[in-house]
Amino acid sequence: MNAHTFDTTGIEHCPFMPVFGAPALNIERGRGTEVWDTDGKRYLDFLSGIAVTSLGHANPVVADAICRQASTLLHVSNFFTNPQATAAAIKVNELLQQATGHAGQLFFTNSGAESNECALKLARKWGGRGRHTVVSAFGSFHGRTLATLAATGQPAKHEPFAPMPEGFKHVAWGDLDALRASVDGSVAAVIIEAIQGEGGVNPAPDGYLQGIRDLCDEVGALMIIDEIQTGFARTGEWFGFEIDGVSPDVVTLAKAMGNGMPIGACWARKDVAAVFQPGDHGSTYSGTALATAAVSAVVDEMRRIDAPRLATQQGERLAGLLAELPQVESVRGAGLILGAQLVEGISAPDVYRSLLDAGLICNAVNATTLRFLPPITVTDDELTEATSMIAHALNGVSS
Ligand SMILES: *Cc1c(COP(=O)(O)O)cnc(C)c1O
Repeated sequence: MNAHTFDTTGIEHCPFMPVFGAPALNIERGRGTEVWDTDGKRYLDFLSGIAVTSLGHANPVVADAICRQASTLLHVSNFFTNPQATAAAIKVNELLQQATGHAGQLFFTNSGAESNECALKLARKWGGRGRHTVVSAFGSFHGRTLATLAATGQPAKHEPFAPMPEGFKHVAWGDLDALRASVDGSVAAVIIEAIQGEGGVNPAPDGYLQGIRDLCDEVGALMIIDEIQTGFARTGEWFGFEIDGVSPDVVTLAKAMGNGMPIGACWARKDVAAVFQPGDHGSTYSGTALATAAVSAVVDEMRRIDAPRLATQQGERLAGLLAELPQVESVRGAGLILGAQLVEGISAPDVYRSLLDAGLICNAVNATTLRFLPPITVTDDELTEATSMIAHALNGVSS
C-alpha cells in the first residue's frame, strides 16, 4: 500500500496523529467546484477546503503561476527578498488600504494561526508592559497554537491543555455592554471575526463592529479583525469588515489568499506595524517566492472576475434557493459564507452524511446548522444541482 492508495479501512498502522477523526473521503483530484475520490466518484465541493479554494480547484491561472514559479525559484532566506513577495505584498496592501483608508505593512505567514500569533505579539509590543490583555468573543475561532487557542473563545478546547497562556479574556459575542465592562487600561487589543465562521456562521449584529471600534478608540486599544475565513471576497466584499464600514488597525488573513497554497498574512496600519523592530518576529518561510506567486495570481484573478460582485450574486441565488426549502428555518451569513438553520428535529450531521452519499460536500457547523462555502466561481447549474441534492437529503432525513 502506498500513500496514493491510502485506505483508512483495513489499515494496519495509520501514519497520522489521531487529531482529525476518521476521514470521510479520500479525494484525489478536483476541477472548479468538482472533486473526485479515489473510487472515481464525483462530488460538488460546497466547502472549498473551508473557504480556501475560493477560485475553484486546480484553477488554471493559479496553477500556471505556481508551476512557472516552481521551476524558477522556490525560496530564499529572509536575509534577502524576492520579486514575488514584494509584488504580492503591494497587491494585498492595496486591497487593505482601499478597505481601511490606511496605508499599512504586512508580514507573510504560512497559516491562519500564525497570522493571529503575529497580531497578538504586535498587540503586546504595541501595548507595552502592564497592557497586554487581549479580549475576544465566546464562540470565536482564532487558531490551534497555544496563544491563538487561548484567544479562541471555546473553553472546552482549552481544558486538555491547561494552563493556557496568560492575558486573554472572553466576552459574550454580539454584546457591546459585556465588552465595555471587560475593556480597561490593561487591554492591548480586541480580536474579533466579522462573521464567526467555526462558531456557526454568526454575522456581527448591526452596530457591533462600530461599537468595538469606538470602544477601542476610547481606551486606546487595537482593533484586530480576523478575516482568515471571511477575507478575499468571500462575503461579497473584499473583507468582511467592509459590510459594516469600520476600519480596523490590524487584519489577519490566510485561507483563500493562496487558493490552497499555504500562506497567510498579518497586516497592520503603518504606525502600528512600526513598533516591530528587526528580530521581534520572523519565519523561515515568510514571503517565500512560490507561495507569494500564488497570492498575486489569486488577487489578479479575483480582480479580473470581480470576485466580490460574483460572491454577492451567487450568494443571493444560493440563499434564495435554500430559504425555499421547508426544512430550512432561516439562512444566515453574507455572500458565499452561508449557514442554513434547520427546523427543530432535523440533525445537521445526519443531513451532512446523507449529502456526502449523494455527492455534495458541505459541513454541519453545529447540531442544527449546515454551512455552505462554495467556490466564488460556482455556476448557476451547480447551485441548482446542489439545491436539489439538499432538498432530497432533507426529505429523506425528516421522513
Ligand atoms: C481557519 C481559521 C483560523 C486558523 O487558520 P489555520 O490556517 O487553520 O491556522 C483562524 N481564524 C479563523 C476565523 C479561521 O476560520
